[in-house]
Amino acid sequence: MNNQQSAMNNLPIQLSQQRLESFLNRINQATVNPEILSTILEEFSITLEELYQQQQELVTTNNASQIELQHYRELFNSTSEAYFVTNLTGQIHTANPAASMMLNISPNYIIGKTLPGFVAESHRKAFCNQLEQVIQSSQSMGWDVQLQPRHGKSFPAAIAVSPIRDNHGNLTGLRWLISDVSQRQQAEVLRQELAEQQELSELKSRFLSTVSHEFRTPLTTILSSSEMLERYSDRLSPERKAIHFQKISQSVDYMTQLLEDILIYSKADAEKLEFNPTVVDLGEFCQNVVEDLHLEAANQERIQFKCNDDDIGGNFDPKLLRQIVSNLLTNALKYSPNGDPVDFELNREENQAIIMIRDRGIGIPPNDQVHLFEPFHRAQNTGTINGTGLGLAIVKKAVDLHQGKISVQSQIDIGTTFTIKFPLLNSKNFESGDDKSSPD
Ligand code: ADP
Repeated sequence: MNNQQSAMNNLPIQLSQQRLESFLNRINQATVNPEILSTILEEFSITLEELYQQQQELVTTNNASQIELQHYRELFNSTSEAYFVTNLTGQIHTANPAASMMLNISPNYIIGKTLPGFVAESHRKAFCNQLEQVIQSSQSMGWDVQLQPRHGKSFPAAIAVSPIRDNHGNLTGLRWLISDVSQRQQAEVLRQELAEQQELSELKSRFLSTVSHEFRTPLTTILSSSEMLERYSDRLSPERKAIHFQKISQSVDYMTQLLEDILIYSKADAEKLEFNPTVVDLGEFCQNVVEDLHLEAANQERIQFKCNDDDIGGNFDPKLLRQIVSNLLTNALKYSPNGDPVDFELNREENQAIIMIRDRGIGIPPNDQVHLFEPFHRAQNTGTINGTGLGLAIVKKAVDLHQGKISVQSQIDIGTTFTIKFPLLNSKNFESGDDKSSPD
């Protein structure tokens, strides 16, 4: 109840007192006249009645306040969250039973202790800074902290603190609500583990469906060609036989490549991919990859290679670099079913080598672009074009090992551009042809 309210409640009492005083004066002054005396006594009786009513009202209000207070006391004592009232330095004036349980200290001993004393040492400085901020801003605040109960294990807790002010608005103390969030954090860890497991099982099923699908086609080819050779060996011309042998060997190559990709990816995923950097002339290296790809009949001269700087050298792992460049070029050729040319540019920008591969093919839908580097992910628009969805996952791992960055820009039916930026920290070695001078 504030001052104004209590003044209002006291008003009728003051009025009654004034009336009593006035009629006592009148009695004292009056030569006793029975009429006046009866009026005075009547007034006296009214005043008494009013006083009685006011007293009844006060009793009722007091009872209601007591009940309300009891409710709050029960709530304060029974809640599982810790409540404290402290002064501005954090010295505890009031604490509920949950607070003494949380800090493992009996209710008698908790009073007078300071809250910062129950904060784990590694968090104490930050806690005191926060406390300072609450006082400076005079605002309610919340933050997480590691609490250290007496003789117990520290645990994470969430704090909500609000200022207590006196009638003049001056800050006099702090009200604290502290909850143990270790269970919430454990639940969060469990949730994350569950999500990882789900992701893993999704990955496994994608792996099985891709592998079984990708193996079925070459196995069917091998089966039918070998049956033809077995059954009709005497009737087949040498050319037809050669075609069947070629089909068998291509299918075996395809399956070997698929197994190789799976192996590389699983090694990379387990962080076991070997990274053996050595000095590489990037221009010459890329030219060789292009020539190898042009050996295949379908790709003849489709890659337009442009090396804009003859002097781009650095430390690269040649095996991984080949995976990167040939996977991106093969994709650019494969996903340009009309046989359009593919641009391949090599540039140097300060200490970076920049590889850019641009095709004019089917493009990648925006929804798929975000999942592009996930294993076994294939975009919706691949149609009958073969693939496992492993190539780009391997490329990403290999680029990461070189501390490079890969990005993609693509538009459906317009084309796709992959850009890779490699840091050329050791380009000096390339100029001197000596890779032993790298700093330890
Ligand atoms: P895949 O064996 O399926 O080609 P990748 O991992 O190399 O596997 O590529 C993943 C998916 O990214 C492909 O299935 C395809 O949907 C899309 N993709 C990659 N490169 C291109 C490209 N140049 N043009 C269009 N789509 C591409």
